[in-house]
Amino acid sequence: MDCPGSRNDQAFFIAEQVRTDRLQQLFRQSVSAMFGSYLAAIMLCWLCWDRFEHNVIFWWLAILTVSTLLRISLFVAYVRSDESKRTPQHWERKYWITLVLSASIWGGGALAVMPADDLLSQALVMLFTVGMSVSAVSCYSAYRDMTLISIGLVLLPCTVWLLFQPSPIQVGIALSILVFTAFAARAIHIMSQALETAFRLTREMEQTNSISTRAAQTDELTGLKSRRAFFEHAQQLYDECKTKRVGLCAVMLDMDHFKHINDTYGHQVGDLVLRRIGAVISSSFRATDIHGRLGGEEFAILLPDTSIEVATQIAEQLIDTIAGLMIEPVHRISASLGVASTEACSKDLHSLMNDADKALYRAKALGRNQVAIA
Ligand code: GH3
Ligand code: MG
Ligand code: MG
Repeated sequence: MDCPGSRNDQAFFIAEQVRTDRLQQLFRQSVSAMFGSYLAAIMLCWLCWDRFEHNVIFWWLAILTVSTLLRISLFVAYVRSDESKRTPQHWERKYWITLVLSASIWGGGALAVMPADDLLSQALVMLFTVGMSVSAVSCYSAYRDMTLISIGLVLLPCTVWLLFQPSPIQVGIALSILVFTAFAARAIHIMSQALETAFRLTREMEQTNSISTRAAQTDELTGLKSRRAFFEHAQQLYDECKTKRVGLCAVMLDMDHFKHINDTYGHQVGDLVLRRIGAVISSSFRATDIHGRLGGEEFAILLPDTSIEVATQIAEQLIDTIAGLMIEPVHRISASLGVASTEACSKDLHSLMNDADKALYRAKALGRNQVAIA
C-alpha cells in the first residue's frame, strides 16, 4: 500500500479508503434488498388479492419491476467494473438515485394499494412496511443516511396517512410505528459508526504495518536497501538466475580511509559522504540490479545476466564517479571494489558474496581506489 507523506495527507488517504470500504460493504450487503423488496410487494399483493384494487396492484408491480431491473443493472455494472473504478465518486450518486427511486415507489405504492376502509389490510400493509424497514437496517447499515431515508420513504406515506385518520386504532398504529422508527434510527446511528470505526482501524493498522515494513527494509541514511532487505532480494535473484541459467555478478564496495574522513571532518560530514554514495549507487544501475548498504561504509550490488567483463567495467565507472564527487570540505573520496561472478563460482549466494569480499580486500591491499576481480 502506497500512502502519502504528511499527517493531513495520510488522514485524507485513510478517510478515502474508509469511504471505499463502506461502498463495497453497501454493495455486498444490499444484494438481497433488491429481490427482497420486490418479493415482499408480490407477497403483500397475493395476501390481499381480494382486498386491494387489481388495477393499482398491476401498476405498482409494473413500476416496481422497472425500478428493480434498474437496480439489478446497477449491481451488474458495479460487479463488472474495474476494481480501480469502484470508488464512491463513481457509484455513490447512482446508488442513491436508484435507492430513493425504489424506496419511494415502494412507500407510495403501499399507500396507493392500501384500502381506506379496511383495517385488516391496513395492518397488513404496515406489517410489511415495518418488515421492509428492518431489512433496510441490515442492508444499508454502512450508510446511515441511506438507511434512514429508505426507511422514511417506505414507512412515512402510510404512517402519516394513518396518523390523520379518525379511528384511534389507526392513530395508535401510526404512533407506534413512529416510536419504532425513533429506536431504529438510534440503532442505525450506532451500527454505522461501529462499522466506520472498524474500517478505519483496519486501514490505520495496514498503514502502520506498511510503514514499519518499509522502515525495516530501507537504510535510513542512504535510502538504499538495508542489509536484511538486500539479502532477501539477493537470494531471490540468485535463484532466478540459476533457474534461467544466466550469470550473476556481485560487486562489493568499501570506502577508503573512511575513518580518516570522520576523524578529520566530523561524523556529520561522514554521513553526508555516505548519503552521496547512496545517491550515486541508486542512480547508476538498472531496475533489475539490486543494491544495498551492508553496514558502515560498505555497499553491495548484484548484476543479473552480466558477464564479469561488463561488471568490471561498471565497477571501474563507479570508482571514477566516486573519485569525481565534490563534497566540501572533503578533498579526496575513493572506494575499493571487489567483483565476483557465478561463472567462476556457482555454489551459492554466500560463496559468491564471499568471493567478492575477498577480491575487495585484495583491492585494498593493492593500494585502494581500484577494482579487483575474484
Ligand atoms: P579502509 O580503507 O581500510 O576501508 O579504511 P576505513 O577507515 O574506511 O575502514 P575502517 O573499517 O577502519 O573504518 C570504517 C569507519 O566507518 C569507522 C566508522 O566510524 C565509520 N562509519 C561506519 N558507519 C558510519 C556511519 O553511518 N556514519 C559515519 N559518519 N561513519 C560511519
Ligand atoms: Mg573502509
Ligand atoms: Mg569497511
